Amino acid sequence: MAPPAAPALPGAIVWVRRSAEYRALSRQAYTLAAAHLRDTVPTLGDATWGVILDADETVLDNSEYERRRALLDSAYTEASWAEWVNEAAAPAVPGAVTFTRTVHALGGRVVIVTNRADVLCGPTRANLDRLGVDPDLVLCQRPGEGDKNPRFRRVQEGTASPDLPALTVVEWLGDNIQDFPGLTQAMRGDAAAYAPFGHAFFVIPNPMYGSWQRNEKP
Ligand SMILES: [Mg+2]
Repeated sequence: MAPPAAPALPGAIVWVRRSAEYRALSRQAYTLAAAHLRDTVPTLGDATWGVILDADETVLDNSEYERRRALLDSAYTEASWAEWVNEAAAPAVPGAVTFTRTVHALGGRVVIVTNRADVLCGPTRANLDRLGVDPDLVLCQRPGEGDKNPRFRRVQEGTASPDLPALTVVEWLGDNIQDFPGLTQAMRGDAAAYAPFGHAFFVIPNPMYGSWQRNEKP
């Protein structure tokens, strides 16, 4: 008897893994963010400045993990996720590596604020290093601190690490609305709340998962 056919991959995973459009959108976001930086940096004077990026689906492409889980007809589990992170094998999201190099070339700092657990921070740094991303600081999630806003503030106040002074954060990049200061899915209908996008906030497309999954139907 033939083995049962593997489940078909959801369209969102196929789109990220195979489409030209996903690559174009990611590159478009990073190109706009870099262009905006080139305009902004000359206005900053002597300020020590930086950018804050999320990790998963912003710098690190975990669609291979999503593919493996989908083929098992299974969703995220903590154990399978830890196994994937420990491989340190996620490829880069298109445009991300060049962008972080541009930030450094312009004299800025690169901070990654991720909700990967603190115990997974080592392999996360190893994965970034393998891709040629050299962040000045990676802030993983301490138990009970899923909200990124306190970490954003510590970066701005200079208390996030003894090795990093207070930063004027000029841009945030993420795939989840909660990667941006003060924002949640509750902003959906508020047109004014989108004003910083394309200026200080830049979104990377992620149709595979996110805080949007908990939204009620319109
Ligand atoms: Mg993410």
